[in-house]
Amino acid sequence: MSITSFTPPIRTLMGPGPSDIHPRVLAALSRPTLGHLDPEFIRMMDEMKQLLQYAFMTKNAMTIPISAPGSAGMECCFANLVEHGDKVMVCNNGVFGTRMLENVERCGGVPVVVEDAWGSPVELQKVEDALKAHPDTRIVAFVHAETATGARSDAQGIAALAKQRGALVIADTVTSLGGVALRVDEWGLDAVYSGSQKCLSCTPGLSPVTFGPAAVEKIKGRAKKVQSWFLDQTLVMGYWGSGQAKRAYHHTAPINALYGLHEALVMLQEEGLEAAWARHARNHGALKAGLEAMGLELPVALEARLPQLNVVRIPEGIEDAPVRTALLNEYSLEIGAGLGAGAGKVWRIGLMGHASQKKNVVLCLTALESVLGRMGASINPGVAVKAALQVYES
Ligand SMILES: *Cc1c(COP(=O)(O)O)cnc(C)c1O
Repeated sequence: MSITSFTPPIRTLMGPGPSDIHPRVLAALSRPTLGHLDPEFIRMMDEMKQLLQYAFMTKNAMTIPISAPGSAGMECCFANLVEHGDKVMVCNNGVFGTRMLENVERCGGVPVVVEDAWGSPVELQKVEDALKAHPDTRIVAFVHAETATGARSDAQGIAALAKQRGALVIADTVTSLGGVALRVDEWGLDAVYSGSQKCLSCTPGLSPVTFGPAAVEKIKGRAKKVQSWFLDQTLVMGYWGSGQAKRAYHHTAPINALYGLHEALVMLQEEGLEAAWARHARNHGALKAGLEAMGLELPVALEARLPQLNVVRIPEGIEDAPVRTALLNEYSLEIGAGLGAGAGKVWRIGLMGHASQKKNVVLCLTALESVLGRMGASINPGVAVKAALQVYES
């Protein structure tokens, strides 16, 4: 065998995640590994909880990172909260709502689906009507930022409707955390999961979650144990600690990955949550101005657009894959393909976390313009970067 070390090329990651990782986070990963019950490591875990509470804007004690990707955070919320026979409303307007539905069914819940078109936010009126038709709904689940479509839904509005009917709320905030306003306590979100690799710009593979008092009460009152041993929060908290309980082994924490998340969250705190949201909004504004000046179309309605995930229609006569391949080969730039209904029709340009910066906006516009021009798209040359820079200067 002549296999040698793997040395990845250096890319600029402007897809739907993972996003570019700050050198400080990469440096943190390489610090010496500690035992998972080492007092110094436990001190770091306690800081991690505080940092996550800050990021989620919550006082919830049960606020920790699950040792697995965002999909496991999703599964954790459903596995712990859904009991056999519970009616669970799933607001489905993209790929991740469909996965929620799958989770409800596998947990033995009775799903009620509220459908909205891809690219549209969840319509509050539909949720209200569905809750009226199904007053015995125990849980309402929705995706705050649909990464497949680039649409943001009104988390506060959905939660208020659920509360009126005494239902708990499960919110997917994988792409929203750190990128747009998210106020867990103020909005009354009971069980929330996120991901490390989107707007937090940490390595993939961790899923911050937070459970509020009403969710904890439902978990404690379950008639049967949570089907998943690994994701059973009552067991996981024996390791992450609540109150004075002595920490006990549950699974070996991904020690170094957690150093990375700690660093990413320290950086978020240094910048300030609201400043991070504002940065995402500013860079989105500049990218949008450049894309539109070039003649490209952003199909998601203005008021529902996610600043961290920009969906762009592929121009007439242009093939999807050759453009993305050229961007990767010539500019080492990754943008995302369309998912599901959007496959071949749109690109998804991420401006998430550390990747949300001026130099990436300029690189992306320059690279897209040159590749699209060469491939014969009818675009306006020479105006995109100028339009973007005007936004920064205004
Ligand atoms: C990426 C994503 C997930 C899944 O996260 P993984 O880390 O890929 O498992 C779930 N929901 C949304 C909205 C996402 O964007």
